[in-house]
Amino acid sequence: MTTAEIINPSTEEVIATTELASLEQTDAAIADARTAFESWRRVAPGDRARLLRRFAAAVDADLENLASLEVANAGHTIGNARWEAGNVRDVLDYYSGAPERLTGQQIPAPGGVDITFHEPLGVVGVIVPWNFPMPIAGWGFAPALAAGNTVVLKPAEITPLTAIRLGELALEAGIPEGVLTVLPGKGSVVGERFVTHPDVRKVVFTGSTEVGKRIMRGCGDQVKRLTLELGGKNANIVFADADLERAAAEAPGGALDNAGQDCCSRSRVLVERSVLDRFMKLLEPAVKEFRCGDPRDESTAMGPLISAGHRDSVLSYLDDAPVAFRGAAPEGPGYWFAPTVLTPDRDARAFREEVFGPVISVVPFEDEADAIALANDTEYGLSGSIYTRDVGRALRVSRAVEAGNLSVNSHASVRYWTPFGGFKQSGIGRELGPDAPLAFTDTKNVFVSTDA
Ligand code: NAD
Repeated sequence: MTTAEIINPSTEEVIATTELASLEQTDAAIADARTAFESWRRVAPGDRARLLRRFAAAVDADLENLASLEVANAGHTIGNARWEAGNVRDVLDYYSGAPERLTGQQIPAPGGVDITFHEPLGVVGVIVPWNFPMPIAGWGFAPALAAGNTVVLKPAEITPLTAIRLGELALEAGIPEGVLTVLPGKGSVVGERFVTHPDVRKVVFTGSTEVGKRIMRGCGDQVKRLTLELGGKNANIVFADADLERAAAEAPGGALDNAGQDCCSRSRVLVERSVLDRFMKLLEPAVKEFRCGDPRDESTAMGPLISAGHRDSVLSYLDDAPVAFRGAAPEGPGYWFAPTVLTPDRDARAFREEVFGPVISVVPFEDEADAIALANDTEYGLSGSIYTRDVGRALRVSRAVEAGNLSVNSHASVRYWTPFGGFKQSGIGRELGPDAPLAFTDTKNVFVSTDA
């Protein structure tokens, strides 16, 4: 039996040991999910909806426990972790409205009646990264289950605890065995098997662009349905006409939340040159006030990085760019990293690659066209922000930036009732929003002749 030691990134202590599923166990879970699919797809829409609402209620009743597990396993601040558990509840509640509303169309056709059905796909494999273990799991399994599929879900090796608990809560809520199975395991074993097993009809992958490309190639063999949510290198564009105090006060939250381990982190702050000096003066205290510390403390803004290896990787980005200023971080055990602001060249690694840590790169731009070109000079296209008081410019630039989720005078990218996903190499497909259940169905067209 292979096991993994689960480490608390704030203390470096081992807090649990989990079993990693073997290939045989993965195949057995997929077979059970395949069997469960035959009955789950036939559960009456109203009953499926009720079970999902009960699952949501079970998550709500366990919210403090789930949040504490995430604080211990991933170092998320207690405030964020509560929001994340609440997000799973809300996403389940939202998609519990879907089974009874999964309506097809009736399309005019001569000589008969033409109708469409949204048929569930079968077993869906959901592969989750370590940075947001709870929400990303829920964004996959809730709409998939609502549309009548069964789900096998693989959490990241290092952050399986909340996913395991969510699997238990599903069973306690009355979701039948085999409908949602959580399989902690390695990407190279369990994740790969989701790609190669013919009974897994769709893969939902959130993670690095590198692994996503490999999964996309693998899915091609079986023309397997696929949603990819990959990396980001998102721009926060601050124009000279913006409310600069507000833009500077909000920039740290947009980039440093979850210690910057966020695919939507606005880690490239592009500032119109005429206001650069003033913006930097306003940004410095805001970054220094973004408190890094014990994630159990309600006043902490960000916790540690996920692992020692990841901290080394983030640190390497400080090599080739001038450091403008840094905040503070605890010393001693824990993978702490102080918030850092760089002023790199446009071709520096820190400005071009996804650092996935609390590192902001500030780069000036000359005018609107330069800002758009700079924002788009990346293979990624996930999110971004535009700070301006000019409504026309806000809309013009929003349309011109090649990214799936933009916000004006705000950094909010995720609402469970609006679609979320990436342009370019940030992904394919959309999660959340009203249409997510349709991504777990194939449309079937049926023509019925009315000829006598
Ligand atoms: P990762 O790609 O290393 O791993 C993600 C998941 O894939 C893990 O569960 C891992 O075990 C699994 N995996 C690894 N190799 C695999 C393989 N060969 N086949 C199948 N599965 C495999 O990513 P990570 O380091 O866990 O997460 C960080 C990345 O995730 C960042 O690039 C970040 O931007 C991205 N991310 C994207 C979004 C989004 O919605 N676009 C959200 C969060 C994170």
